[in-house]
Amino acid sequence: MIDVETLNKMAKNATSTLRLILGDQLNINHSWFKKVDDQVTYVMMEIRSETDYVQHHIQKVIGVFAAMQNFAKELLQLHHKVIYIKLNDENNLQSFNKNLDALVLKNSFSCFEYQLPDEYRVDQYLKDYCKALSITNNVTDTEHFYSSRAELGNLFEGKKTYLMETFYRYMRKKHHVLIIDGDKPLHGKWNFDEDNRQKLPKNHTPNSPLLFTNDVSEIDIEIKKTSIKTIGVVNSKNFLWPINRSQSLQLLDFFVKKCLPLFGTFQDAMAPNEWSLYHSRLSFSMNIKLISPQEVVNRAIEEYTNRSIEIEYNQLEGFVRQIIGWREYMRGIYWLKMPEYASLNYFDHTEKLPQWFWTGKTKMNCLKNAITQSLQFAYAHHIQRLMITGNFALLAGVNPNEVDAWYLGIYIDAFEWVEITNTRGMSQFADGGIVGSKPYVSSATYINKMSSYCSGCYYDKSKKTGDKACPFNSLYWNFYDKHEAKLSRNPRIGMMYNVWRKMEPTAKAQLLEQADYYLKHINEL
Ligand SMILES: Cc1cc2nc3c(=O)[nH]c(=O)nc-3n(C[C@H](O)[C@H](O)[C@H](O)COP(=O)(O)OP(=O)(O)OC[C@H]3O[C@@H](n4cnc5c(N)ncnc54)[C@H](O)[C@@H]3O)c2cc1C
Ligand code: SF4
Repeated sequence: MIDVETLNKMAKNATSTLRLILGDQLNINHSWFKKVDDQVTYVMMEIRSETDYVQHHIQKVIGVFAAMQNFAKELLQLHHKVIYIKLNDENNLQSFNKNLDALVLKNSFSCFEYQLPDEYRVDQYLKDYCKALSITNNVTDTEHFYSSRAELGNLFEGKKTYLMETFYRYMRKKHHVLIIDGDKPLHGKWNFDEDNRQKLPKNHTPNSPLLFTNDVSEIDIEIKKTSIKTIGVVNSKNFLWPINRSQSLQLLDFFVKKCLPLFGTFQDAMAPNEWSLYHSRLSFSMNIKLISPQEVVNRAIEEYTNRSIEIEYNQLEGFVRQIIGWREYMRGIYWLKMPEYASLNYFDHTEKLPQWFWTGKTKMNCLKNAITQSLQFAYAHHIQRLMITGNFALLAGVNPNEVDAWYLGIYIDAFEWVEITNTRGMSQFADGGIVGSKPYVSSATYINKMSSYCSGCYYDKSKKTGDKACPFNSLYWNFYDKHEAKLSRNPRIGMMYNVWRKMEPTAKAQLLEQADYYLKHINEL
């Protein structure tokens, strides 16, 4: 196999067209690669503008670079011409435009092409770059998603709300997924969520996750030579994430065989030392396009069809909904609402994230677990992101910019198009209800219902005030009290305001006092 260093030499005879492949555009089935063309040279680059726009988890930087290098090798094996600019190459000018300009000048390319970026920032950047470019340029689709950028906007044109369920049904019908008799949902219902979401039983031991043992230490060494600031830790001799298509397909196979049968049932469950339970951990592979959402959905349906006596339908439908529904929906909202979306702050929250979000050193067991595993694995599953870290940040009144930067950095699957809509929208309600119809906040009751964190906690889940009272309990009521003007007319939470209004004035005052104390001592919780 020819190594990456030799790739530049191979491209010496570059002629006409230069095509840029971004680090999250590793789709080998793209029509670009269907035939080998001597007139086309592909360029991939590891650059500081991408490593530094936010502080990323070390596993995210390594994972993306490792997958990019493998992708370049794969293209080369297929006899495509590739220029690969590594992080510390002397000719690396560390930004797209500078590297592209240098290549165009040196190789006299007559045309520049790129695929639609998923991120607004890069999209604008490349549009501007092309405006100033003197050679022909073209942009093409990534051929990855089920829906186009504008499809959700078109579907909801003239509507005031953007219900995910409406979009999901539209997608199921359009792509004929789990549909019978033309446009009817299989098994008579669109959504089987009520059969899902149980707590993990006491004696239940989930499957161990499939972990890879990739040696990515060379990339780690190159990153350490730079001043790139990262979060978290990595075992670079045994890197656990998939870094090529074949490993991504192995992970998909593992998921459908071992995890799909209980995916829906334990989708919202949380337990100490169980970092991924029955979740697929396919988001990284999908988001950098090593595998497509279509092949993930089709493989899950195939497994269900082959084992339909053993695998209940609610497990499959719950999984398909995450991909055909939520993933595509979030992308549609992103392209409909950007760039304004990135500065929405419905509650005018201004606080800073507590310091322990960067260390996991807090006495709150639920947060300690969710943050520690995020630092260790660059991963937390949906309910940990939403109902533990996100819930706390919202109750604590943290500025959504801070919350966004944390989520965009820490998770291996974090790319703005899917991160910001989940964080600013679903988790922080900073969009005032575009994505969700009410804020996702809870007291200890929900956390204790879905996890076993509370039994090992310094704080007492059932205490609202006084020594060792669980902070979630008072912060929860404090949040509703503070935002009454904005929330009390919301029909989905009116009931909570009835409870709050009926509460004894002294009990209310004690709760608010307790919350105030906790907010003032947030770094010590
Ligand atoms: C605050 C917050 C931030 C998030 N940030 C990201 C992010 O940066 N990148 C990201 O891919 N997902 C993000 N999500 C959505 C979701 O949590 C992750 O997709 C999921 O945890 C990834 O793990 P998995 O592959 O094991 O997912 P599984 O539980 O196995 O789900 C299967 C797939 O469904 C898709 N999916 C599920 N839920 C969502 C959702 N709400 N939005 C979009 N796709 C979804 C993902 O592609 C995922 O791989 C975020 C959620 C929250 C609440
Ligand atoms: S008692 Fe409160 S802080 Fe502790 S784990 Fe439960 S919810 Fe979290």
